[in-house]
Amino acid sequence: MRKSFQFRIYPNKKQEVALERTLTICRHLYNDSLADRKRQAELNRLKQSFNVFPWGYPEWINYYDQANQLPLSKTAFQKEVHSQVLQNTLKRVERSFQNFFNGAGYPRFQGRNRYNSFTYPGSGLKLEDGKLNLSKIGAIKIILHRAIEGKIKTCTIKRDVDQWYVTFSCEIDILIIPIEIKTITGIDVGLTSLITFSNGEQIEPPKYLRASEKRLAREQIHLSKKKKGSENRNKQRIIVAKVHQRIRFQRKDFNHKLSTNLVNNYDHVVFEKLQIQNMVQNHNLAKSISDAGWSQLINLTKYKAEYAGKIVELVNPRGTSQVCICGHPVPKKLSMRIHRCPNCGLVADRDHVTANVIESRSSTTGTAGFQACLSNLKGEAMKQEATLLVGW
Ligand SMILES: [Zn+2]
Repeated sequence: MRKSFQFRIYPNKKQEVALERTLTICRHLYNDSLADRKRQAELNRLKQSFNVFPWGYPEWINYYDQANQLPLSKTAFQKEVHSQVLQNTLKRVERSFQNFFNGAGYPRFQGRNRYNSFTYPGSGLKLEDGKLNLSKIGAIKIILHRAIEGKIKTCTIKRDVDQWYVTFSCEIDILIIPIEIKTITGIDVGLTSLITFSNGEQIEPPKYLRASEKRLAREQIHLSKKKKGSENRNKQRIIVAKVHQRIRFQRKDFNHKLSTNLVNNYDHVVFEKLQIQNMVQNHNLAKSISDAGWSQLINLTKYKAEYAGKIVELVNPRGTSQVCICGHPVPKKLSMRIHRCPNCGLVADRDHVTANVIESRSSTTGTAGFQACLSNLKGEAMKQEATLLVGW
């Protein structure tokens, strides 16, 4: 199984120039091969329409077409970069097209500030004497604050505003013994950044995280008011990027703690499957940040659960907040916080019900229960409250 290890690296001035250059060369390759695919697709479509290849001509060229072409058409710049790093760049184009074929948006050209990493798939790197030796770049200072386990499979260098990181993805041999599943919980992650368990327990992300998110929204507005191409706009862009970076650090820290907690307390955790396409196209900043945060939480939980022989399940998210545990539809606007079912009379907090609906969609418990909702609603404290509300 794979495990990732991330460390900060400290390049000197000369190495930083080389890293930036590599990023630029990879980015150009990425954009060029994207354009190439588009051009080829148009050409092939034309050929099809003129029946040049009546037996059917592939509309899209793929990774292998481009990777085979690469050594023949290498520019002087591209020769400065390790060949496998270039191949990996083409793989990224392939991946974004696969996502596109699976319903995500059309792959985008990458601007200078968006393309932030490149990958050595296995070769071209060495770790020795507190240095990370990268082919064509040099030996960069690294502090290994924890031991790397297993065999390094890939090594990704990443720029984060003004800092550099390396992530090693390692293959480790580990025998995982699935444990007997005794405890299960459904989890509802909300737009309000609140997470709700099916027993009614709720967790709120730390206050400082909310504060940073508010600050980000403010700085973003400042940025939008600055003149395009001006020096001031560039300064503001860096401020925004720094706040973004801080949120990512805080969020990751929170998600790490929460996922450890989840895996320690439950054998089987059920989440809703987040809809990735919507995430990319969503223009609501707060929403897209919170979605990115949740998908990180789910990934971390999955990863830790796998180690512990436990299960994380992602279920169909369709209408989870619009239905009762008894299966009866209970449409609610976002502002309606209380769920009232006309069928079984259940009255409870909407997120609490949603968490139970999510849990009930798990493969182990079968479809939504059709017994009386009250006895299905998990959590003693909430049960009392729910009863009280029924009597209201
Ligand atoms: Zn009901």
